[in-house]
Amino acid sequence: MATDQSDMSLPRYMGIPTFMRTPYQPDPAGLDIALIGVPYDGAVTNRPGARHGPREMRDQSSLMRSIHHVTKINPYDLCKIADIGDVTFKAIYEHDAVVRDIEAFFARVHAAGVVPLRAGGDHSVTYPILKAIAKDAPVGLVHIDAHTDTWDQFQGSKFMHGTPFRRAHEDNLIDADRTVQIGIRGAQNTSDGWDYSLEQGMRVIFMEEFTEIGVKAVIEEARRVVGDGPTYLSFDVDGLDPVFAPGTGTPEIGGITTVEAQALLRGLRGLDLIGADVVEVAPPFDPSGNTSLVGATLMYEMLCLLAEVIAEKRT
Ligand code: MN
Ligand code: MN
Repeated sequence: MATDQSDMSLPRYMGIPTFMRTPYQPDPAGLDIALIGVPYDGAVTNRPGARHGPREMRDQSSLMRSIHHVTKINPYDLCKIADIGDVTFKAIYEHDAVVRDIEAFFARVHAAGVVPLRAGGDHSVTYPILKAIAKDAPVGLVHIDAHTDTWDQFQGSKFMHGTPFRRAHEDNLIDADRTVQIGIRGAQNTSDGWDYSLEQGMRVIFMEEFTEIGVKAVIEEARRVVGDGPTYLSFDVDGLDPVFAPGTGTPEIGGITTVEAQALLRGLRGLDLIGADVVEVAPPFDPSGNTSLVGATLMYEMLCLLAEVIAEKRT
């Protein structure tokens, strides 16, 4: 059940850059966790560039190592993990076709009994992922973001990066009572998204409350909301302050620090996570590469969470 870690002992600038320097294995069969890129940003409202996120995160992820310095977990000892490549598209300029291709890709991973960890790409992609892996019963959601992404539409389009969790809720893929949205902030031209989340009973932790109660209390609240049931974890890097993650399409100042983000993710240990993603890393706005490094590091934190839960379920 362990991962071949031999490439991880090479000098980190060598070799073909897969996520975390895991083996490249296009077929998910036999894996526990699949690392997946979705290089798509056709649904952003403003600055494009997240299509370049997966490749840059693969490159920056070569800086990751194996053993977590707090939990001492080595996810590669616990689980068989591989980079299964990128979702490809039959018709990349047709949103309906894009949704179908992403859903089909993740359905194949899900059918193989493999947990997906995805690098984006814009946030619209999380909707077809949930269509693939949450179709049997609605799941809980831990969603870290500056934006609730529960708007109804933008410029006449219902499939875009500000609507995935509205669509997911309408399709009964997420349970509003088991949804927590963390880090929300920034002015809007309409309050539709905030209103929808609150009216449907989602727990919205605006950034001001986060700052007021602190990360420990946020963790407690998130765990209370999602409980023991199956839960998806979605991290939009614009939830972080742009000081730490400037390379993103819709930055909002006054956000979460990287230290808080790491503490928050570690605080989710033991949740029944069925998949996770890091989205909206936009390398064209990230000249130092730091946002991709941050995104890759968040992926590593998530990988440790997923590996531990899968290993526990096995025993
Ligand atoms: Mn956002
Ligand atoms: Mn988002």
